[in-house]
Amino acid sequence: MAVSNHPTISTRVALRPTHVLVDLDKLTRNYKAIQGAVGEAMVMPILKANAYGHGLVRVGLHMQEIGARMLGVAYLEEGILLREAGVTTPILVLGGILGSQTPLFLQHDLAITVSSQQKLEQVEEAAASMGVRARVHLKIDTGMERIGVHYYSAEELLESTLKCKHVEIKGIFSHFANADAKDMRSAKLQLERFQEVLRFYEKRSLPTPLRHMANSGAILQLPESWMDIVRPGILLYGVYPSADVQRTIAVEPAITWTSRVVYFKVVRPDHPVSYGSNWQSDHPVRVVTIPVGYGDGYFRSMSGSAQVIIHGKRYPVVGTICMDQFMVNIEQDSAFNEDEVILVGKNGNERITVEELAGWAGTIPYEVLTNINTRVPRVYLQDQ
Ligand SMILES: *Cc1c(COP(=O)(O)O)cnc(C)c1O
Repeated sequence: MAVSNHPTISTRVALRPTHVLVDLDKLTRNYKAIQGAVGEAMVMPILKANAYGHGLVRVGLHMQEIGARMLGVAYLEEGILLREAGVTTPILVLGGILGSQTPLFLQHDLAITVSSQQKLEQVEEAAASMGVRARVHLKIDTGMERIGVHYYSAEELLESTLKCKHVEIKGIFSHFANADAKDMRSAKLQLERFQEVLRFYEKRSLPTPLRHMANSGAILQLPESWMDIVRPGILLYGVYPSADVQRTIAVEPAITWTSRVVYFKVVRPDHPVSYGSNWQSDHPVRVVTIPVGYGDGYFRSMSGSAQVIIHGKRYPVVGTICMDQFMVNIEQDSAFNEDEVILVGKNGNERITVEELAGWAGTIPYEVLTNINTRVPRVYLQDQ
């Protein structure tokens, strides 16, 4: 496999024995599996939060290369970073925005989420004064109560858009609160509310903008919601949004998180390990130290439950996880400085998943992925 380092991290890759390896071919296969399943609908890869920890710019460029026709991010800055890296594909910023940010959206040709009457007016005004047309997607709140005009008062906003001369309504969308659940009644109710809002265009014989609502959960479980565009985030990265969700599309995780042993010692009984002295052995054990900690996103709350793989075998993390290091009990086995340690990924018959880390930390896989922070260098693998 060809290893291509991100240009800005290559020196850090060399300096640090800890990496997240991102297999771009797996991202390609996941993208194609989703595209294959949703047929006519366009797939909009969601790249927010550093592409769920996989690296915003590299994944953005890769998605463009493999044919994605629209990309989604949460924040203005994420869109600008993609533009500065040479991404020319249409980008929609999904999150709430400030009216004062509008000029930057227009300068960088980023599609704006308009979620209220006031925002619409601010965008119209800014676009008019710059002499351009703003590309806009309207956000309808059908039950998330986050951003968006409520479905029961959306008509007025849709009406107003018809009068705006400097706003081009490219899309209209909503977001599910419970699409990854076993019980799909709430998701179906949200979908009905959205469909009711969309009747506005039909009633007036107006062309309907691009309609979209499906996140990973809905892509897997609610085909009626696919419409014109689907917005996969976590599924694209090969992780299922919940344990309950039906796995109707096969995807594979794309990351491996590894480090190396930096210290070996024998710990005697009555000699507790790490801060707080919460763990000790009643017999002499071999303990190795790994140069990763909660300051990298290896959650402290996993202390006492986390495991790693060394030489194809699982071992427990012992003592409190520190900011930059943690300890592993290998009992009477051997491990040497520089030996590889797998935090997420597989070796032989053993595999540790982000779902498992999420379980140890008492959180969801989304939070595990997005917390592997920029101190951990990303290395990209690509064959095709
Ligand atoms: C994050 C997000 C998505 C993707 O969600 P997943 O559950 O990761 O698929 C889609 N749409 C919006 C508006 C989002 O904020």
